[in-house]
Amino acid sequence: MSVLSKRILVTGGAGFLGSHLCDRLMAEGADVLCVDNFYTGRRANVVHLMGHPRFEVQRHDVTFPLYVEVDEIYNLACPASPIHYQHDPVQTTKTSVNGAINMLGLAKRLKAKILQASTSEVYGDPEVHPQTEDYWGHVNPVGFRSCYDEGKRCAETLFFDYHRQHRLQIKVARIFNTYGPRMHPNDGRVVSNFIMQALRGEPITIYGAGDQTRSFCYVDDLIEGFVRLMASPPEVTGPINLGNPVEMTIRELAELVVELTGAKSRLIEAPLPQDDPTQRRPDITRAREVLGWEPKVRLKDGLAKTIAYFDGILRGGQTGVNGE
Ligand code: NAD
Ligand code: UDP
Repeated sequence: MSVLSKRILVTGGAGFLGSHLCDRLMAEGADVLCVDNFYTGRRANVVHLMGHPRFEVQRHDVTFPLYVEVDEIYNLACPASPIHYQHDPVQTTKTSVNGAINMLGLAKRLKAKILQASTSEVYGDPEVHPQTEDYWGHVNPVGFRSCYDEGKRCAETLFFDYHRQHRLQIKVARIFNTYGPRMHPNDGRVVSNFIMQALRGEPITIYGAGDQTRSFCYVDDLIEGFVRLMASPPEVTGPINLGNPVEMTIRELAELVVELTGAKSRLIEAPLPQDDPTQRRPDITRAREVLGWEPKVRLKDGLAKTIAYFDGILRGGQTGVNGE
């Protein structure tokens, strides 16, 4: 093991995005500490890394202080799908807020750089379209999504106050809907739901009329954005949107999934959840200019890889290191 390798903490490292980030950092030769309480994350997501001399997993809940020695921190710990974050909303807020305080405190003691996985949900049901980073958002503070939205907004506040007050090097990424292998098959998110329903030949559940829009980013593109943001000069703090600006309606997504899977599924309408944002598309001008970053993977290609992953799960087979 090189004494020169960077020690990097990934909280939420056994989750969907976290496990892909661990893969990327390991491939770059870093020492990676994956911290997770396995609330929505799975050991299976990182099992292929276990036993590697540069990789370590620690079961820990970030709402409690953590004492470790690292050079950089990626703070991803937080359930991301609406059914998961609404299951225990108080814990969701605690994870975002107390988790941020604990990880920022750790970064302050270590003088470590810290990146926050924030979200397009800070814009709520946006009245500005596409969303630019200077838009303050349109968020219900007392609804079912508030535990997540307001928790993430408060975490951003804490990041910027630690930066101003303690000169901490911070990086805040606002992530827009990201998909790919290792999404939890039962997380209720639209991509996983539609693919699982199509592969099982079940009806595809469109919430509402399906004319609400989202913009879907493939996981590899997102991870590239994370790594570039962490490596950016100290004056680059964000917030910075990371997402794919190709926008589509949920009905169009359903039709595409049916086409790509060759499923016989019909599309059915189901009730629209409360406060479901009607439109979402990132303006990524800032990421293009500051990070030289933009997504490369076309939706059809990314969906094909994701479909192969879920197909592997349904067949009970091995999905392989990258879920391929
Ligand atoms: P995920 O649910 O797969 O991963 C979250 C991980 O955090 C899981 O491994 C979970 O067990 C862990 N975790 C939850 N609470 C914890 C706690 N208190 N202590 C320690 N670990 C805890 O979700 P994901 O899609 O990989 O999202 C990762 C991060 O990115 C989250 O912070 C999420 O808010 C953010 N994000 C994701 C998306 C997306 O489209 N995937 C969009 C916006 C923001
Ligand atoms: N959605 C849907 N059918 C499903 C799951 C989700 O129509 O089976 C819709 C949901 O109402 C929302 C969009 O798809 O408008 C994206 O939902 P998701 O939970 O993936 O993420 P969100 O962007 O809402 O956080």
